[in-house]
Amino acid sequence: MKYFIYCRKSSEEDNKQVQSLDTQERILVDFATTKGLKIVDIFRESKSAKDAGTREIFGVMLSKITKGDADGILVSHTDRLARNYNDAGDLLNLMSKGLLKEIATPYRAFNSVQDYLYMGFDFVFATHYSAQLGVKVKEGIDSKVLKGEYPTHAPLGYFNKEGKIYIDETKAPYIRRLFELYSHNQYSIKEIGNILYKEGLRTKGGNKVVTAVLHRALINPIYRGDFMWNGKLYEGIHEGIISRELFEAVQGVLEGKNRAKNNTFNFLYRGYLTCAVCGCKLTATKKKQKYDYYYCTNGKNLCNQHKDYMDSDDIKGLISNNFANFIINKEMCDLSLEQYKQDVRKNNNYQDSTRNLLQNQLAKIEEKLDKLVDMNLEGLLTKEKYTEKQNKLLTEKGLIQEQLKKLPNQITENTLELLEKFKERCYHLQNLFDEGNEDVKSDLLKSALWNLSIKDKQIATAQYKLPYQELANASKSNDFDTWRGRRDSNP
Ligand SMILES: [Zn+2]
Repeated sequence: MKYFIYCRKSSEEDNKQVQSLDTQERILVDFATTKGLKIVDIFRESKSAKDAGTREIFGVMLSKITKGDADGILVSHTDRLARNYNDAGDLLNLMSKGLLKEIATPYRAFNSVQDYLYMGFDFVFATHYSAQLGVKVKEGIDSKVLKGEYPTHAPLGYFNKEGKIYIDETKAPYIRRLFELYSHNQYSIKEIGNILYKEGLRTKGGNKVVTAVLHRALINPIYRGDFMWNGKLYEGIHEGIISRELFEAVQGVLEGKNRAKNNTFNFLYRGYLTCAVCGCKLTATKKKQKYDYYYCTNGKNLCNQHKDYMDSDDIKGLISNNFANFIINKEMCDLSLEQYKQDVRKNNNYQDSTRNLLQNQLAKIEEKLDKLVDMNLEGLLTKEKYTEKQNKLLTEKGLIQEQLKKLPNQITENTLELLEKFKERCYHLQNLFDEGNEDVKSDLLKSALWNLSIKDKQIATAQYKLPYQELANASKSNDFDTWRGRRDSNP
């Protein structure tokens, strides 16, 4: 086998535990030398892996693997390779085609089906962690939010004062009027905008308040005394401008209008279906105002699939069957996840003991520093001796603090629980899909399905989004018997 070494560190990781590019490279070259692995090229990249398709060097490496220049990748950790589902998908795609045979880290090689599954969990975590980085910054704000204080600029109808928000009685009457007018379901938001303008509502710049702003106001729970922050609803300590009943009434009107709109324009399965023959997206249309029809549009003498119309029930059936076959080799999946959990916990324990050790050392140094101050007060030391000893201890203290800071953030039990839930969800995909209403179906498709290619009204191939794709791959594996045999002989 021939390996590429891939090293990555982004500038945003500067103060974190990730090793420098030089260190990564040195460790990997050492490792390859010890193990006798053949390295054909080394790639180094200083980019974040959060967004897909932004890493040129990573892209170059993948295309070289496609050409057969190498069939293995050596990295310091799998999170160096992928922190988003698309890149991870590209890698797994290469693996399923047999072009990429192994991803190796100094601690573990990934080269069998259950390894990919395991790595899937690793990728899920990397993505989860990537999202977490953004959250950490906001922790300060969050404590404010938990107390029910709105943490940012007051919206129309309120003003900020001493970290809280209060009703602005010059603007609040317009908000009340907006909600009341809209709750009667007689005017559009635009028409209400005109009415409010005539009645004197202006932006700071003296203009009419635009429809989008009024629409946002109508769905903003802040006006009934709660507020949304980071996608969650909190009970506010501020006073509402309108009653909860009025707010609910307005939501009812809005929902009614949405439903009417969706019934005309929204096709549940559009965007997930392509034609297996010509590769174009299937489009959808309404026939007789009632049924959705899906078909290949590339019909102008080019594709024989053009005449195959399918209605939404046909598609629903195909997807349901597909989700049924999605059923995972449960035993293998359970075992892979258990193994992953054990590794995480072992790693956490190791880090905990390192942390304890460092903290003990730190406490001892503090003690020594205290003693030193006492001795100095008692006049037992010369000024030079005191400064020298003090400097030495402070340097040591700094080094230990540095090491403590470098300890990685741990994968929490919470994350492991999420993975467990995800696994359970995958076991029941068909039920969820069949029994869910349109919203549930739509959510499920959005999170799990990448593409179905259709030929002669049947599914030709199915691609899922990660990490679902992993589980789908594993479920198709014939490895199970050998794997089982191995396990029986070695319980
Ligand atoms: Zn076609």
